[in-house]
Amino acid sequence: MPPMKPDTYFDNPVHPVSLKLWPRLNGEKLRAWDGADLLLLEHIAEQDASTDQDASDQPATLVLNDPNGALTLPLLAAGVKVHASGDSWLAQKALLTNAEDNDLATDTLSWSWPNEEVAQPIARVLIRLPKSLSLFESQLATIAGTLPEGTQVIVSSMDKHTPPTVMKILEKYFLSVEHGLGRRKAHLYFAQLGHQTAQQRTAPAVFAIPALQGKEICAQPGTFSGDKLDIGARFFSEHVPSDVAGNIADLGCGNGVIGLVALDRNPEASVWFCDESAQAVSSAKTNTAALYPKRECSFHHGNGLDGLAETFSLILLNPPFHRGHAVDEGVSSMLFKHARRHLNSDGELYVIGNRHLKYNLPLRKLFGSVREVAANDKFTIWAAKF
Ligand code: SAM
Repeated sequence: MPPMKPDTYFDNPVHPVSLKLWPRLNGEKLRAWDGADLLLLEHIAEQDASTDQDASDQPATLVLNDPNGALTLPLLAAGVKVHASGDSWLAQKALLTNAEDNDLATDTLSWSWPNEEVAQPIARVLIRLPKSLSLFESQLATIAGTLPEGTQVIVSSMDKHTPPTVMKILEKYFLSVEHGLGRRKAHLYFAQLGHQTAQQRTAPAVFAIPALQGKEICAQPGTFSGDKLDIGARFFSEHVPSDVAGNIADLGCGNGVIGLVALDRNPEASVWFCDESAQAVSSAKTNTAALYPKRECSFHHGNGLDGLAETFSLILLNPPFHRGHAVDEGVSSMLFKHARRHLNSDGELYVIGNRHLKYNLPLRKLFGSVREVAANDKFTIWAAKF
């Protein structure tokens, strides 16, 4: 195993591992695990010590929403089979890269995206509460509808990120819901599957887009801005350029609203919808198929524009400024660099940001010309070119 730096060494009672976030950004300040991961592993270590069965003879543990493998990798290292599932391509990449760094074989690890079947049988379910409660509910509905009665479910969450409704949500889907004592600024929530709870389902949200003449789009649970049009996206949609030919990228497409407006205004263009969220890419696919079935569209589920050979006449970006719950500029800076690599020599990058984020400053370091396209009391839209 490679030497572990103190800031990446995750000491825990199941199996210590070395962990980093992905993408691996220069000067990374964020740690790849938290008190809620440790609290859950402490509980699992106690639970597994009290059974004398060999972990490798047991069915898989289902782990949901593990951003960097902090739950999955200690379990794998301890010989437990894991089926991991989540919405984030970056989380899957972090998990696999960290497994490689720890010389951990992944032949007892399987993976599914939220809209895919979970490989059965499953012994127990461990869930990190995701930021999106609609994603959480849709995951609970799937578990309640597919796994056998009596399966144990444990949810772990940092107290500062736990909404008061979490117990009520769990009670909608499961039996005997209770929470454990708090430690490490986190709590565990315990529940069991019961057959009377299997009927609940969550449907995609549907809402109208003014810039598309009021046409409706859908958003799968977990996509940015949930069941409504984001106010920044609404402002951005009013300023999407027209008369662009060639390729256009909606980078960080979410439900796809900006790329759909680009399709509407640019009949000669092909549009690429790119996002690291599986639910986002799935929403964009559904929306383009419903509203523009004859147009040429492509979809990229991955990190920014990594892995694409195409160059673009126009790249439209409403960048994330959080990683998980933490405010972080690293991802927006990385996406600006991706855009520079993939822009045609006469192409333009349009970026919207909250006024206080001042994206013009990092953009000026990368591009020869940066102009303000539009601003209101909350947002500024910048256009950058070589
Ligand atoms: N364009 C949509 C809109 O305006 O409503 C969504 C914008 S939202 C602020 C940012 C989007 O970027 C999210 O959908 C998020 O999943 C995606 N994202 C975050 N990090 C990413 C990455 N490294 N690569 C690709 N997409 C990413």
